[in-house]
Amino acid sequence: MKKSISRRNFVNQTIGAGAGAIILPSLSGFKLQDKNKVIRPLIVCSRITPAAKVAVETAWEILKNGGTAVDAVEKAANVIELDPEDTGVGYGGLPNENGIVQLDASFMDGKTYSAGAVACLENIKTPASVAKLVMQHTDHVLLVGAGALQFAKAWGFPEENLLTEKARKIWLRWKEEMSNNDDWGAPEHLQKKVKPDAYWRNFPEIEHHYGTVNVLAVDVNGDIAGCTTTSGLSFKLNGRVGDSPIIGAGLYVDNEVGAAGATNRGEEVIKSCGSYYVVLKMREGRSPQQACEDALHMIIDKYRNVNPDYFPSVNFIAFNKSGEIGCAGMKGTGNPLATIMTERGYGKFEGKIVFPGK
Ligand code: ASP
Repeated sequence: MKKSISRRNFVNQTIGAGAGAIILPSLSGFKLQDKNKVIRPLIVCSRITPAAKVAVETAWEILKNGGTAVDAVEKAANVIELDPEDTGVGYGGLPNENGIVQLDASFMDGKTYSAGAVACLENIKTPASVAKLVMQHTDHVLLVGAGALQFAKAWGFPEENLLTEKARKIWLRWKEEMSNNDDWGAPEHLQKKVKPDAYWRNFPEIEHHYGTVNVLAVDVNGDIAGCTTTSGLSFKLNGRVGDSPIIGAGLYVDNEVGAAGATNRGEEVIKSCGSYYVVLKMREGRSPQQACEDALHMIIDKYRNVNPDYFPSVNFIAFNKSGEIGCAGMKGTGNPLATIMTERGYGKFEGKIVFPGK
């Protein structure tokens, strides 16, 4: 029988581990960060949607049978990429300003110190898999646009329309809301001066959407892999590349240390080499939680003399080789959450907002 968990019980099950904490999915409970036990295998996904649960369970099937972190990460990322309801990744992702879905993804294998990525890839539902093939079957790291598409087709990926009806309607509404200076009409909800219907209430802020997914895993052998996949900043300029396919920015893996990934305002993550910085901090002995927070402070420090009121929306997620997890967001109302799976089951990890109220 499914036990219902009140908000109070839910919080009581939260196990403190520095600033971040594991939120247990059931009353039976486990503690993830045992002092004397290295938690392995482990899969972490920076999403808490139903698809994220399926994603980590899919990865877990691979990991528990001795499969590699590379394979586990790819299959988990694919689950989310193929979810039409997810407007931040793969099929169903929000398009660029022209209504074209352009996807970015990166892959890194700590065991072989290899990486692959694709940017501005159109018409392919699973860019994570294409990035993995770039990593494993070329001596390049990053393919873009038409070249990335050509490469994907050479590997047999079918070209498909990635713009779902849901994503198209959101794009169209954004376009119409921008219509003061162009010939696009005002959107229906503004013409009628009525409250948005239930559908639109799900998207109160159309301006921009973020929605990248980071998937990080360590396998039974202690080898680490990571993937970051996204449709990027919604309504971006045609050809814009974010941080997600940039190794060191949206993703970094070091087999001796751990892995990190970034989401949200990619331009800031590129400039700060954010994920590399997080892994570097963990190498220096900082916990994953501390390292994620360090990276956010570092970004703010860069703006101290330029614009001290600027707190760009950036999130980091990381784990280290011992299976400790960290997750931090620059600002917002709720702490960032991630889905995790270990031999002790499925759970959610709650990170921390570093500058609440900004
Ligand atoms: N980081 C992504 C980008 O800038 C956006 C996101 O995380 O949604 O493309």
